[in-house]
Amino acid sequence: MIEIRGLSKTYGARHALCEVDLDLTDGEVVTLMGPNGAGKTTLLRIVAMLARPSTGAVILNGVDLARAGAEARRLVGFLSHRSMLYKDLTAEQNLRFYARLYRVTDASERIGSLLDTVGLLDRASDPVRAYSRGMQQRLMLARALLHRPRVLLLDEPYAGLDEDARAMCDGILVDAKHDGVMVLTATHEMAHSLTMADRVVVLSQGRVALDARTSAIDAGDFANDYHLLVS
Ligand code: ATP
Repeated sequence: MIEIRGLSKTYGARHALCEVDLDLTDGEVVTLMGPNGAGKTTLLRIVAMLARPSTGAVILNGVDLARAGAEARRLVGFLSHRSMLYKDLTAEQNLRFYARLYRVTDASERIGSLLDTVGLLDRASDPVRAYSRGMQQRLMLARALLHRPRVLLLDEPYAGLDEDARAMCDGILVDAKHDGVMVLTATHEMAHSLTMADRVVVLSQGRVALDARTSAIDAGDFANDYHLLVS
């Protein structure tokens, strides 16, 4: 479980996050929404241990991430805007590199299975620089899942994906939930969020403007409510 307590992040005079409190439990799919600049990526990067909060804490399974080591990093999988892929390496070489980094013991089987899941098995030997945007996004999903993280952080996972790949991505969320993985997804796709997530958290100017179970939200009214929340 993740406990986020009084989390703030400032860049100079700018407040990217302000006193954010959130609890996330195993097997829960939570969607982060909010306008451009609301703080979604900042929050994901802090939970992924790629950025440090200015104040406050993220506690993962009882351990403050500020004091956590490599073990905690191995619990987290992050699909970021930044590709984290080596363009001159093939898809398979990229995944092998990350498998070593994360000490994946069954690397060959895991890589083959993930390339199959994301539909890239027949392009596994192509360098990533020859991949289309959607193909890179598929590979980034595979990279995020490679070490079987217990916390999956997805920053706009549907960006650039075609219909088949979107369904594949939905399947990944369903499987993750089934396996008790905690999923935190930032997206602008309102209708889709309401069907896929257990909870929706809306950020507005770095603050939590709404934290609600999707079962309690009326999808028909939500677009209006959302605009009021973030305006
Ligand atoms: P989007 O929907 O556009 O992806 P977001 O909700 O993910 O937006 P963030 O990327 O978290 O928003 O940015 C939140 C705020 O923090 C913005 O005002 C942004 O300009 C600022 N910010 C983020 N990273 C930095 C940085 N490295 N240096 C300065 N300001 C930053």
